[in-house]
Amino acid sequence: MAHTYDDQNIFAKILRGEIPNSTVLETDHTLAFQDINPLAPVHVLVIPKGAYVSHDHFAAEASEAEIIDFMRATAEVCRMTELSLGVDGDGYRVISNCGADGVQDVPHYHLHVLGGRNLGRMVNTPD
Ligand code: 5GP
Repeated sequence: MAHTYDDQNIFAKILRGEIPNSTVLETDHTLAFQDINPLAPVHVLVIPKGAYVSHDHFAAEASEAEIIDFMRATAEVCRMTELSLGVDGDGYRVISNCGADGVQDVPHYHLHVLGGRNLGRMVNTPD
C-alpha cells in the first residue's frame, strides 16, 4: 500500500504559508504550532516539513537529519511548554493518529503534544 501524499491537505497549506498558524517552534525540518481546537491547556502539533503521511511513513522513509531534527524539536516543545519532567513539569501525552482506524483527519504526519491537565486513560474502549 502506497503512502500517497495529498499536497492540498491543511498542514501542507500551513507549510506553504497559505494559511496562518500560531508557531511555537520552527527548525530546518520541523514546524510546531498551536492546535486550532485545543483539547488540553497545552495542545501543540509537531509536523515535519517533508511530505509524509503518517508516523510509520516518516519513520521508514525520512532522512536521519529529518528524524533527528523532528525528535529534538519535540523535546524542545516539551521543554518550552514546561510539560517535561526535565523542567519539573507534570508530564504529557504524545499521540499520532493514522488512517481510518486511528481516526486521522489531516493526512500530513503530526504528533499531538498534550498536557497541562490529567489526560485520563490512554484509549477509549468500546462499550
Ligand atoms: P488528527 O485527527 O489528524 O490527528 O488531528 C488533526 C488536528 O489538526 C486536530 O486536532 C485539529 O484541531 C487540527 N487542525 C485542523 N485544522 C487546523 C488548522 O487549520 N490549524 C491548526 N492550527 N490546527 C488545525
